[in-house]
Amino acid sequence: MDDALRTSAKGLYVAGDYLTGPSTVIEAIASGRRAAENMAREITGAAFCEKVVRMEDTDITDRERTWDYLHRLEIPTVEPVRDRFTTPLVEVETGFTREQGKEESKRCYLCYLHYEIDVSRCIYCRYCIDVAPRDCIKMVEAVETNRDGAVTGLVETSRWQDVHAIVIDNARCIRCGECMRVCPVDCISVTRVELTEKMAQMGD
Ligand SMILES: Cc1cc2nc3c(=O)[nH]c(=O)nc-3n(C[C@H](O)[C@H](O)[C@H](O)COP(=O)(O)OP(=O)(O)OC[C@H]3O[C@@H](n4cnc5c(N)ncnc54)[C@H](O)[C@@H]3O)c2cc1C
Ligand code: SF4
Ligand code: SF4
Repeated sequence: MDDALRTSAKGLYVAGDYLTGPSTVIEAIASGRRAAENMAREITGAAFCEKVVRMEDTDITDRERTWDYLHRLEIPTVEPVRDRFTTPLVEVETGFTREQGKEESKRCYLCYLHYEIDVSRCIYCRYCIDVAPRDCIKMVEAVETNRDGAVTGLVETSRWQDVHAIVIDNARCIRCGECMRVCPVDCISVTRVELTEKMAQMGD
């Protein structure tokens, strides 16, 4: 089997549990999609969809710092254990109630939301750093990027004369929105970033 999930038998692809052994639904769906894309490419000679990044401006998110400390909820199960054997089809994990589901979802860090400071408008007042609930906004003398322009590292400094920018570290941001609320020049924005697929144009 090669990277395209194609076996040595002509026209035969594999995916899902048959490919990986016992796994999860999400992995089975992902590998099924991959195999389908590769089949389409083999048949038509062209990709039928391409990965694109969709970005759109969005509003403040209002996640709270205290939500960082919420414990993971245990999934309720059928108890006592002997009740799991009343019929062969008892589902042991009964799932969350709507309220429990809402509570559990607060633990999500909403990492598809990207906070950014427009350094050309920043006046370096540091208000955002003062209200930040954690070490998420950095004074930096340099920003390291890769060939695609993606940020790979920040060179921090505490010496004012060396500060070239104030930068949000999205890996540490909890999307509370506090920095946006206090910025006096409104130079902090939030973008919703989503990796999605778009049908390729026929003949591409
Ligand atoms: C008890 C149990 C609980 C699980 N719970 C979870 C869970 O909570 N969350 C989760 O993500 N994953 C769970 N999994 C794993 C998940 O079910 C599998 O990873 C997923 O279903 C794999 O999908 P698949 O399409 O590869 O295979 P399957 O879903 O097994 O589909 C294969 C299909 O092929 C059919 N088939 C087989 N041989 C032939 C044949 N010769 N001709 C025609 N058809 C055939 C089978 O009947 C079956 O319908 C659980 C698995 C088990 C066993
Ligand atoms: S929204 Fe702003 S203040 Fe809140 S965690 Fe993210 S960077 Fe820090
Ligand atoms: S609050 Fe706004 S202007 Fe002040 S340092 Fe932060 S981003 Fe810059």
